[in-house]
Amino acid sequence: MPLPTQERRLVTAIPGPRSQELQQQRDAALPVGLGMTMPVFVDHAGGGILVDVDGNQIVDLASGIAVTSVGAADPEVARRVSEQVERFTHTCFLVTEYAGFVDVANALNRLTPGDHAKKTALFSTGAEAVENAVKIARVHTGRPAVVVLGHAYHGRSLLTMSMTAKNVPYKEGFGPFAPEVYRAPSPYPFRWPGGPEASGEEALAALKDLVVSQIGAHHVAAIVAEPIQGEGGFIVPPPRYLAGVADFAREHGMVFVADEIQTGLARTGAMFACEHEGVVPDLVTTAKALGGGLPLAAVTGRAEIMDAVPAGGLGGTYAGNPVACAAALGALDTIEKQDLVGRAREIEARVLPRLSALVGPDSVVGEVRGRGAMLALEFVRPGTTEPAPDVAKAVAARCHAEGVLVLVCGTYGNVIRLLPPLVIGDELLDDGLSVLESAIAAENG
Ligand SMILES: *Cc1c(COP(=O)(O)O)cnc(C)c1O
Repeated sequence: MPLPTQERRLVTAIPGPRSQELQQQRDAALPVGLGMTMPVFVDHAGGGILVDVDGNQIVDLASGIAVTSVGAADPEVARRVSEQVERFTHTCFLVTEYAGFVDVANALNRLTPGDHAKKTALFSTGAEAVENAVKIARVHTGRPAVVVLGHAYHGRSLLTMSMTAKNVPYKEGFGPFAPEVYRAPSPYPFRWPGGPEASGEEALAALKDLVVSQIGAHHVAAIVAEPIQGEGGFIVPPPRYLAGVADFAREHGMVFVADEIQTGLARTGAMFACEHEGVVPDLVTTAKALGGGLPLAAVTGRAEIMDAVPAGGLGGTYAGNPVACAAALGALDTIEKQDLVGRAREIEARVLPRLSALVGPDSVVGEVRGRGAMLALEFVRPGTTEPAPDVAKAVAARCHAEGVLVLVCGTYGNVIRLLPPLVIGDELLDDGLSVLESAIAAENG
């Protein structure tokens, strides 16, 4: 199938009649607990465009939540997947092996920060990768506790939802939660009581106090942190904070786990977001962009930590599925050959100045932040830091009606995040931004 023309085009209202019909079927067949951002059904996609079942061409500024960084129909991914599907779809790597699993592991061992000896285990979802990072850290240290941050998002399984900060919708009613999960404040510069300048040092001091005086450092297996917090609102920690956490973890024999599931693999204008801070984590979790759209996740880290778990302790029926591995090899190839790290930086250079111009004392945009092609706007009551989730929602709705897909996130539901495929063209990106600017202008009155 050829790539859709890279232009926004609306031929019906959004959603169109065919999407509405499918929506009715969905509502009858699916539980309401499955949320949805934009009520259109996709027929095909590619580059920066999603084509819906009514023929509308929608600008994709979401990438299926940072997954389709190489586009939703990358030829390298498609070719390798088709070839693999015809050879075999599954053996279970724990039963009989295949080379693709080892190839993906080698690629991640090479690409993740640090030049120490590394090993990689593959899984299917991000939550599974985070769970396994904790399992590995617990066996390696012989300690139970896990320290996470405010505004963190680590998944929806029992352990990872316990590690996730936000109650509604991720935790409400789903308790009791997993024990031995402790939360230190996130240094959220825009909202730090002592101001952004103090946020890093004060948050680090609070984390150390929590670990030393409340948990006991010798009980802590791991500190798990997103180098830029994703679902929590694209919160970029202040300079030196992450390095401070990593150093503190090392001093006390705790494993420092960077959850790079959303930030990793070129998204932030570095292969891994930790690199912006020169931080080398002990373990790194990846998923989202790794599989080029197919479900694949990984834990990569220091060989001696990864080898702590005895044979049989790690795995899963589908973990490192051969079709997903083929897709990942295609996606990684595209990321490297097309220099999508560089492209993410270009996207930042193109988008950030336009977004930054929207901030002001009379504007609903209180702050613009992020790195690379992971950028966000935080909406507030003008001149205050009071969250304005209604405004974020209204801006997103205007964008959706105009055929531009944006996502809302944040602990207070007041952040619009931009996660375009890294292969999106400049013209399409500019067009999407113009729609977003008009939507914000309408809210500013
Ligand atoms: C999406 C995400 C996860 C969970 O990944 P799933 O594949 O949805 O289980 C974990 N951590 C971070 C930082 C994420 O963004």
